[in-house]
Amino acid sequence: MTTTDPEVLRDAHLLNTYKFADEVFVEGHGARLVDSAGREFLDFQSGIAVSALGHGHAGLREALHAQVDRVLHLSNLLRHPHTPDVAARLCRLSGMAGAFFCNSGAEANEAALKLARKHQRLAGEERTSFVALEGGFHGRTTGALSVTAHAPYREPFGPLLEAHFVAPDDAEALEAALETHRPAALILEPIQGEGGLRALSHGYLRAARELCSATGTVLIHDEVQCGCGRTGHFLAGDAAGVKPDLVTLAKPLAAGLPIGAMLASERMAAVFQPGDHGSTFGGGPLALCAAQVVLKELEEGGLQESVRARGEELGRGLEAIAAASPLATGTRGAGLMRGLVVPDRAGDLACALH
Ligand code: PLP
Repeated sequence: MTTTDPEVLRDAHLLNTYKFADEVFVEGHGARLVDSAGREFLDFQSGIAVSALGHGHAGLREALHAQVDRVLHLSNLLRHPHTPDVAARLCRLSGMAGAFFCNSGAEANEAALKLARKHQRLAGEERTSFVALEGGFHGRTTGALSVTAHAPYREPFGPLLEAHFVAPDDAEALEAALETHRPAALILEPIQGEGGLRALSHGYLRAARELCSATGTVLIHDEVQCGCGRTGHFLAGDAAGVKPDLVTLAKPLAAGLPIGAMLASERMAAVFQPGDHGSTFGGGPLALCAAQVVLKELEEGGLQESVRARGEELGRGLEAIAAASPLATGTRGAGLMRGLVVPDRAGDLACALH
């Protein structure tokens, strides 16, 4: 059940941006949430793909308590011990050369779009538009919204940045768009999240890499939803053997604290210079302390292996449901980023499940 009752929202002094659940949640333990009436719920939402370690993870709580006792905030002008460690871990895991920290997925994409434009300018090119995919979602800030295809999200807020949308998995359409529009960058999710857990084919991801290299287009992989080990690889693009020029991460990277990161390849790493971009809270001690715990779990704690094993189990369970259900026609996704294909009335089904 959800509330959109204007009276309820006005009483709560909230703008009408979300369909809130009626319940008010007060605690979380592992995969369970507890509401103010003491009722327990299995948390299938995971904070929209964020709570990767579950609720109340002991190591995370301990690390954060210790960090709160040391220092909470410094600003992006001062480093703390987590800064180089988290950046180095991210680069090791992704094969990229440098990290920029911010506070959300949309912000990470903003950084990538800006960096791509500056790269083109340094190359003497007037290339300022973008190409993106139909079904893609990149966030709600103006730049990120400009490369998000879904018309109802965009229309009330135009004019946006110039962006051209092509059908996913159509390499010929992509080639034509890159040649016609000569964009600063192509941005895509290797597995579209909001677009319905649609994995782009590995052949298409490789073709996109080749076409970007051939046309001087910056390739941005938005791995805000499919990255950080969720599919069984640190980056979903790794499964196709594709290295983009820029990668954006967020959601589970700090297991619940706001964070975003843009990672740049060796070729792109020197584009941003002091003054080009920034964020007051980005890369703060608390968020990076949490990110360090997540990355240690992935690198040393067996989390990646566990995602693969539990992902196979989830896949088998979903296949069995799809085979038995008249509503579902199949399954999609990889690792723990999986779902059922429900061709009709998926929204009604989601509401009924809630
Ligand atoms: N990119 C992708 C692929 C996303 O799924 C999302 C959010 O759902 C975003 C970007 C935006 O992230 P945020 O809500 O942290 O700004």
